Amino acid sequence: ANMIEFQHVFKSYGRGRNILADINFRIEPGEFVFVSGPSGAGKSTLLKLIGGLEPASRGSISVNGHRIDKMPPRARPYLRRAVGVILQDTHLLYDRNAMQNVMLPLTVIGLENSVAITRSRAALEKVGLSGKEDMKPIELSGGEQQRLAIARAIVNRPAILIVDEPTANLDDETARRIMEVFRDFNRVGVTTLIASHDRGLMASYASRTLLIEAGRFADVKGVPA
Ligand code: ADP
Ligand code: ADP
Repeated sequence: ANMIEFQHVFKSYGRGRNILADINFRIEPGEFVFVSGPSGAGKSTLLKLIGGLEPASRGSISVNGHRIDKMPPRARPYLRRAVGVILQDTHLLYDRNAMQNVMLPLTVIGLENSVAITRSRAALEKVGLSGKEDMKPIELSGGEQQRLAIARAIVNRPAILIVDEPTANLDDETARRIMEVFRDFNRVGVTTLIASHDRGLMASYASRTLLIEAGRFADVKGVPA
């Protein structure tokens, strides 16, 4: 079974040029995959297609056994549950504390408050933010805000985690700690895609890389040369 499959996928914005052209690949459950390429190549676009945040212009995309290019808008919440998305802009709510931020996806699906609190606390603990439940994002460091966004993305136990440039603007030590959080989820079976152009990071962690470069797409084992 495939967790993610692209068949002849094209993507352009409005009437602009193709950012992605005839992209084909499959990702199996439990894989840990990097998406790499220079800035502006289309890494974020690829992730947004998988998360259903942007529609493909052409082609078919399957995620978790569902054709998302054929998914009606009313089915979007299912996709949101299946795919945890962590974009560069963390989209944290700055007027709410850490606990409230993490609880949000659970409140949205109508989970009972006491259950939502227990699960949110567990998610915060997993990313090393226990004891910071009451703090507002602005009171947290950059790395802690990243980890809060991770907690919010994993609190509803998605099968797939997609992450855009998780270590941009972080020091090496914090970057490694964040990567270990993703590795831990991957070890318990979460299919993980990480967009990055950090070669040091990829040298340490990449076993498969989807490389996007001006008009070229390559699916390579390990780190691209
Ligand atoms: P990367 O993540 O590799 O830096 P992106 O996927 O963010 O690349 O962007 C790829 C190209 O698509 C860029 O030229 C960018 O300007 C363009 N692009 C991204 N999002 C939009 C959008 N919403 N509208 C129009 N163009 C966009
Ligand atoms: P309903 O009760 O509204 O018919 P379904 O469970 O049949 O709901 O699913 C509705 C839509 O959501 C379908 O198009 C299905 O493909 C999609 N869907 C359901 N579960 C998932 C999932 N885990 N990931 C992605 N899409 C899903």
